[in-house]
Amino acid sequence: MTETNLIDGRWVGADSGASFEIRDPATDRVVGRVPNAGAEEARRAVDAAFGAFSAWAARPAVERAEVLDALAARLISDRDELAALLTEEQGKPLSEARAEIDYARSFFEVSARTCLSIRDESPSVPGKKVRVHRRPVGVAAAITPWNFPIAMLAKKMAPAMAVGCTQVLKPAEQTPLSAIALLERAMDSGVPSGVLNLVTGDPSAIGAAWLQDSRVRKFSFTGSTEVGRLLMQGAATNLQRLSLELGGHAPMIVFEDASVERAVDIAMAAKYRNGGQTCICPNRFLIHGDLHDRFVSRLASRSAGLVSGRGDRPGVDLGPMIDDAAISKVESHVADAIDRGAEVVTGGDRRRVEGLADRFFAPTVLTECTSGMRCWTEETCGPVCPIRRFEDEDEAMAMANDSVFGLASYVVTDDQERIRRLGDELHTGIIGVNDPGPAVASVPFGGVKHSGFGREGGRWGLEEYLELVTVSTIEPTSV
Ligand code: ADP
Repeated sequence: MTETNLIDGRWVGADSGASFEIRDPATDRVVGRVPNAGAEEARRAVDAAFGAFSAWAARPAVERAEVLDALAARLISDRDELAALLTEEQGKPLSEARAEIDYARSFFEVSARTCLSIRDESPSVPGKKVRVHRRPVGVAAAITPWNFPIAMLAKKMAPAMAVGCTQVLKPAEQTPLSAIALLERAMDSGVPSGVLNLVTGDPSAIGAAWLQDSRVRKFSFTGSTEVGRLLMQGAATNLQRLSLELGGHAPMIVFEDASVERAVDIAMAAKYRNGGQTCICPNRFLIHGDLHDRFVSRLASRSAGLVSGRGDRPGVDLGPMIDDAAISKVESHVADAIDRGAEVVTGGDRRRVEGLADRFFAPTVLTECTSGMRCWTEETCGPVCPIRRFEDEDEAMAMANDSVFGLASYVVTDDQERIRRLGDELHTGIIGVNDPGPAVASVPFGGVKHSGFGREGGRWGLEEYLELVTVSTIEPTSV
């Protein structure tokens, strides 16, 4: 039996003994099996987290920080081993897998530092002594996606553990092995039994068990807007707090003062990370008319030169799409755009890679895009660059904000006045100005509108796992 679920410090299988296969998306080779657990195992995970909460919350912050630092150190010593596993089950190139381990590590480091500075506050109220205290919410549930299997978990584990919460975790069906490997290292780093619990299996049964359990006080979810909405409806029963990091549809706006070469560098770095399967990667390119043709031709030739293949092979830029449904979605978005008048400048189709699964999509640049196209309104989650031109800033802002999503946006300009205006004018939670990688562990990450709410990163991320308690005292002498 596969015994890779973690409940109360013990590695266990599903009650039924059932398990499911994990396949390398590049080769279709089976690389592991994990328990196919459900509601009952999920409930026992909450029992364990609930039982471990008081003792973990009562530990001095400095001791919890030591555990986080020990885990961060393991992510340094085991970086290559973890990266190899991540590439095997997720498909991304090894260099990106290593960068993901580093990104994950930084959340443990930042949370370890930040939890030491959480203090009570004393607002001044006439005739009273008021203390605003912060305490951990209790048991927190985390549900994570497959695109950054280690980093997404780290973003949720690090702040929760740092402030004294205990957790029940469910990784995505496609990528549970990296999550299990991270939890193994966490346990080796001194995390007490029950503080972290991990269950793999039926997403809706596990999710429902946690929503229906009033001991779970917080849900942190990264994934699709549809599932985020279901969780929000489910959380209504027990009024659990939510952090929802949902779909994105980032615009990238290149203004007339930009250098084309620099704009293309930024586009390449932001767009093709993880083969475009990144919630903050640009999904719509808005290019000023003066630069449009030069930008298109440069982006197309650089895109066409990207190498597809197994992530563990040297020189590979793009891995496979995560599964058949993912590549079908990319294909249908491109077909829809072509039907509605888009022109394919490069790519536009699957790319056969000798000896590998049929799950690679050619880097694609589309021009003459319009707002009615699916690729212009929905997250494509693949290596596709739909492009439109604009003539002035107002038009660009209106086009950029014309989306139900509001996670990230990118702007290429050196106009300081314009940069100052962006925070109010662009309706997204994150704005990268000449910056293809605006997500770092010490700053808030999260969206607005249908991209959800709540923030991960820095002290803002820790606040999501803390509740405020007002202690208002009338002292005997002043009665
Ligand atoms: P994606 O489209 O990126 O795969 P999903 O929202 O489907 O995004 O998946 C993200 C995470 O949500 C995964 O861990 C998945 O198992 C989980 N999930 C999917 N459906 C549900 C559900 N009904 N309840 C709880 N979790 C779910």
